Amino acid sequence: MTAARPVAGRDTLRPYRLTVARTARVTPNLLRVTLTGSDLADYRPVGPEPRCKVLLPPAPGAEVIVPDSVPFWDALNALPESLRPVVRTYTVRAARPDDHELDIDFVVHGEHGPASRWASNAQPGDPVGLYGCLSSFAPPADTSEYLIAGDDTALPAIAGIVASLPTGTRARVLVEVDSAVDEQPLDSSADVTVTWLHREGVEPGSGTWLYDAVRAVESIDPCTYAWVAGESAAVQAIRSTLVLDRDLTKQRVYFSGYWRHGHAEDD
Ligand SMILES: Cc1cc2nc3c(=O)[nH]c(=O)nc-3n(C[C@H](O)[C@H](O)[C@H](O)COP(=O)(O)OP(=O)(O)OC[C@H]3O[C@@H](n4cnc5c(N)ncnc54)[C@H](O)[C@@H]3O)c2cc1C
Repeated sequence: MTAARPVAGRDTLRPYRLTVARTARVTPNLLRVTLTGSDLADYRPVGPEPRCKVLLPPAPGAEVIVPDSVPFWDALNALPESLRPVVRTYTVRAARPDDHELDIDFVVHGEHGPASRWASNAQPGDPVGLYGCLSSFAPPADTSEYLIAGDDTALPAIAGIVASLPTGTRARVLVEVDSAVDEQPLDSSADVTVTWLHREGVEPGSGTWLYDAVRAVESIDPCTYAWVAGESAAVQAIRSTLVLDRDLTKQRVYFSGYWRHGHAEDD
């Protein structure tokens, strides 16, 4: 569920065959998986929050078949189900093409999601595929300030966005995480105010922390660009209140359901 289609990167979309280089905890619920492979020498940066498809083994220990033929998705879907990789959507948090490396930060939310499970168990040398990248960040030229809201799945994108904002830009950033230990520094040369919202152990996707925080923002300039991502129902509610109650035009509100409470990505 996305309001605007990704705008940059279509011309450089391509598959990558990679392996896990290493993993590191960023915060207790966020695991950075660094991927490596010579394909990354050709990686081209696209926008501040490059989204990609991560191709995971269909079963533990299985190989990851990354088709060469085009159209890519037709070739992938033509594979027998037992050989077809599990596909999930993630944000490239950082890329170092000269070193043939990129980082993806996975929210580890338990063993019931294949991507969360895969990241939690990832070992150096594990195979993984990637198809990307696209970017959706396209504020209108006359944007006066930014309102950026998201949960922990959007934190890698939010970090990239605020880092890209130029000096003199004003941005209000609202981020929902489990608790204070899940906060992380958000570097930026812009004038950024970050508010961290804590679930404190309550199940993700079952509260209204982000919605309430957006509703509590006192004044929103009509030339604000809002970028909202996270659990689907929360994001839709925030988009509605920004458009209906705060009079932002639909073109000024980008919203994207990054995951759906109770549903797998491929449900
Ligand atoms: C453009 C885009 C960029 C994204 N970038 C990132 C990123 O950089 N890092 C990141 O961690 N996620 C990111 N996501 C979200 C990620 O794709 C989803 O969380 C995805 O569902 C995880 O797959 P899974 O296999 O772990 O779980 P699934 O198999 O999809 O779901 C299994 C169960 O887990 C639940 N679930 C899924 N995600 C969560 C969660 N975060 N917390 C609690 N329960 C959950 C589902 O509701 C379902 O019940 C992004 C999504 C999009 C669309």
